[in-house]
Amino acid sequence: VARNPGEVEFHQAVREVFDSLGAVLVKHPHYADAGIIERLCEPERQIIFRVPWVDDTGAVRINRGFRVEFNSALGPYKGGLRFHPSVYLGVIKFLGFEQIFKNALTGLPIGGGKGGSDFDPKGRSDGEIMRFCQSFMTELYRHIGEHTDVPAGDIGVGGREIGYLFGQYKRITNRYESGVLTGKGLSWGGSQVRTEATGYGVVFFVREMLNARGQDLDGKRVVVSGSGNVALYAIEKVHQLGGRVVACSDSGGYVVDDDDGINLELLKEIKGVHRGRVSDYAEKRGAPAYFVSSGSIWDVPTDIAIPCATQNELDSDDAASLIANGCTIVAEGANMPSTPEAIKALSSSGVLFAPGKAANAGGVATSALEMQQNASRDSWSFEHTELRLAQIMRGIHENCLSTADEYGAPGDYVLGANIAGFTHVADAMLALGVI
Ligand code: NDP
Repeated sequence: VARNPGEVEFHQAVREVFDSLGAVLVKHPHYADAGIIERLCEPERQIIFRVPWVDDTGAVRINRGFRVEFNSALGPYKGGLRFHPSVYLGVIKFLGFEQIFKNALTGLPIGGGKGGSDFDPKGRSDGEIMRFCQSFMTELYRHIGEHTDVPAGDIGVGGREIGYLFGQYKRITNRYESGVLTGKGLSWGGSQVRTEATGYGVVFFVREMLNARGQDLDGKRVVVSGSGNVALYAIEKVHQLGGRVVACSDSGGYVVDDDDGINLELLKEIKGVHRGRVSDYAEKRGAPAYFVSSGSIWDVPTDIAIPCATQNELDSDDAASLIANGCTIVAEGANMPSTPEAIKALSSSGVLFAPGKAANAGGVATSALEMQQNASRDSWSFEHTELRLAQIMRGIHENCLSTADEYGAPGDYVLGANIAGFTHVADAMLALGVI
């Protein structure tokens, strides 16, 4: 804490992982002897830069850009870029730290990193977004590359932004280096299923949790927070597997649509095409759908909760509501959406809890599949890629459960994910020496 003052989200993420590691450090003291814990907490490299750009009125604007290259023991740094006004070093470091273990859990050769800017894309014109992305890449390009560091999207960075970033990288370097960014469009080096991967992946993980207990998604009520990339495709996969998503949200409030469940076609049109709000959805859909501008989406009764918006969006009061309403599974689509107090309350009440670093790893795993396709100048079918994603999520689920069993905490996905991710990356760090 003294070494990284004020970075509260980073402290929270570190504490959450290290709280799980007691047993592993007793069993394998060589990790601590080799300074693995201290080395893991210190990013290999942190880059902070100025991003100047000109808005539509001709005014010069200045934002701050970040890229934290956290750990490359397993492969090139890999992790998204977030454009949101709440971004500062503590947020990027928490995300980068989590990414190390998440990427290790996928079993694919990728290290951990994260980046972004305090730029707020909301209400900005297409031209402003393009000029911002070009300026951002004009600094970032010298630090990234297909064998070095491979950014992707996150909050506020989707296909449009990746296109502008890739275009500027190509222009500056005079290289068509497809593997430098993932989340690209299908016609210029992208992978099938990447857009859907995080949302689909979290639902595949939920399916594994249910299957392990002799159940399935059929007929289950589900609440998904957010209505961005992860949320939309989580809703889609829940519906495909027979469940019913009855509520979703954005930062303005939440919508409940309990009749046939959320109408995804309408939601996609409002969010994707018009960049609108969930309040517009409620208005267009009409009764019985309704919009709530205050209060918490977690008050809506549900069997399964999938938070897909942002960090610390589900607190101990929300956990109490979920428990009181009979929720049996919480699976994190977002990164660190549940507070430590909420996780404690859910776990001690017997609610199965899947942490983001396991449950939302499908996005980065499919990014690694995109890198594989770029390296071999190949492109796979939707069916083949989705099957690979489902297999990867099954593997992560098994790894979490068997590790939790091994350490005497059956069914504890937090402990299983933290220990399995840690030992994978720690073993590689040991093999590479003190670097
Ligand atoms: P998007 O920008 O596409 O969507 C974010 C959504 O969350 C928006 O609907 C946004 O609403 C909503 N939101 C943000 N803050 C709040 C809030 N305080 N309360 C309610 N809703 C809120 O981002 P993504 O879907 O890509 O990312 C969502 C989460 O998933 C993040 O935690 C991200 O790190 C994580 N993640 C994303 C991956 C990916 O592949 N994209 C991979 C793994 C994790 P509004 O428009 O009003 O801001």
